[in-house]
Amino acid sequence: EQEREVLTWATFGDASRDLTEKIVDDGFVPDIVIAIARGGLIPAGAISYAMGVKAAGTLNVEFYSDIEETLPDPVVLEPLLDTDAIVGKKLLVVDDVADSGRTLALVIDLLKAHTAEVRSAVIYTKPRTIVQPDYSWRETDKWINFPWSTLPVIT
Ligand code: 5GP
Repeated sequence: EQEREVLTWATFGDASRDLTEKIVDDGFVPDIVIAIARGGLIPAGAISYAMGVKAAGTLNVEFYSDIEETLPDPVVLEPLLDTDAIVGKKLLVVDDVADSGRTLALVIDLLKAHTAEVRSAVIYTKPRTIVQPDYSWRETDKWINFPWSTLPVIT
């Protein structure tokens, strides 16, 4: 069994505040915070509250079918984002982790086709990522256990 990076709810709370501080200190004020669902939903919510940015949206992308097991390519799933609503807006795209970075790369390309400024924020960055997020809390090469996806599904 490989070693894991374990993020607790309490540490996630601090991480989302620290990450937001980096964005604010950089002077970036997004018009809309876009969560990459589902992994980015909770980080994006925390960041949008911490920044005081009320406009929030989601883009649903699936890549990992299981731990360290991916689909051939990341795919955008329904419901789709209303691209008319993002024209001319400054966007902050949020995800849990840039691992291969392929999900983030897909989403950034997709959004950049509709608006000028797209920046990205993640809790974790892995060294192998193909895109460097603009803002990241920490780097790790381990598999990360996030507090929202570690416990079994309630049935
Ligand atoms: P990427 O496209 O950067 O390889 O990763 C896409 C998604 O896979 C991430 O947003 C995340 O939901 C999931 N993922 C990648 N690496 C990890 C990890 O170490 N732990 C967990 N729990 N999910 C991961």
